Amino acid sequence: MKVTRLDLDGTGSPTGLVTKILKVETDLAIPVKIEELAYQLDISEIGELTTDGFEGGLITDDIRSVGGILVRKGANRHRRRFTIGHELGHFLLPFHKPVKVGEFLCSREAMRLWTANEQDRYARMEVEANQFSALMLMPPPQLRTFLAGMKTPDLANALAVHEHFDVSREAAARAYAQYQGEKIAIVVLKDAKILRIYRPAGFPELSVRNGQPAPRDSGFYIAPGAAGVISPMREIGAEHWLETKWAVRAPSLYEQVAHQSGGFAMVLLWAEIDDDEDADPEESMTSRERYKDRISRSVGRY
Ligand SMILES: [Zn+2]
Repeated sequence: MKVTRLDLDGTGSPTGLVTKILKVETDLAIPVKIEELAYQLDISEIGELTTDGFEGGLITDDIRSVGGILVRKGANRHRRRFTIGHELGHFLLPFHKPVKVGEFLCSREAMRLWTANEQDRYARMEVEANQFSALMLMPPPQLRTFLAGMKTPDLANALAVHEHFDVSREAAARAYAQYQGEKIAIVVLKDAKILRIYRPAGFPELSVRNGQPAPRDSGFYIAPGAAGVISPMREIGAEHWLETKWAVRAPSLYEQVAHQSGGFAMVLLWAEIDDDEDADPEESMTSRERYKDRISRSVGRY
């Protein structure tokens, strides 16, 4: 690698930083060697963190002359890679100032923050560090190229992102929902209850919240298959997952379920929204024809 911090001078956003790094590292190998990149950008040491309740840390000074990254002892490879990216983000983003001078300590919850109140400066820094890490581990140009041949939404493709970029399944699914091109949301379940929802901008509002059980009619219950098995894509009434409004046509909704080990499962929701009703080729069809057409286009059925 040849990028130096001088190349990044004056850049204050996660996207800006990643863009500049990619501009210099034109032959960036995938999976991204995040440790090597950290050392290349003046991190002097990557050590173990043993403080309870924290996932990562960064020891540095006010002028960021040098930095040391700490990763929770025992963290698995994907978590470790994400944490290093996150702490490197704090190190490179000039406006990031820790609560305690010279020492960032980041909890697991902090590493899952993707939105923050404008007024909450600390939460905003965590969101930015997460954005930097995700963008750096799955650089958008490389991700778009990787997804180019995979037009139809499919959890198998999200898992391919996980393998190819060497990131966790969840990180991969989140990026997949953002970059796939169709309107996709990802719901993470644990013991049949909703643990987290990734809903990119443009995806309709969900009617379910964290902590609630998966909707009664979800394919989650129909196909409780073994860990690692991905169900076919299946059409489901939008009202089961989405907020529906009276007199507003709900989108067609499809769902796909992947059960994982430890009681975890991932659900992909794919909403097909008619943006322009006048241009809808289905407009002239009867509802029965429309239904038959949908079924024939749907990827699979239980
Ligand atoms: Zn942090």
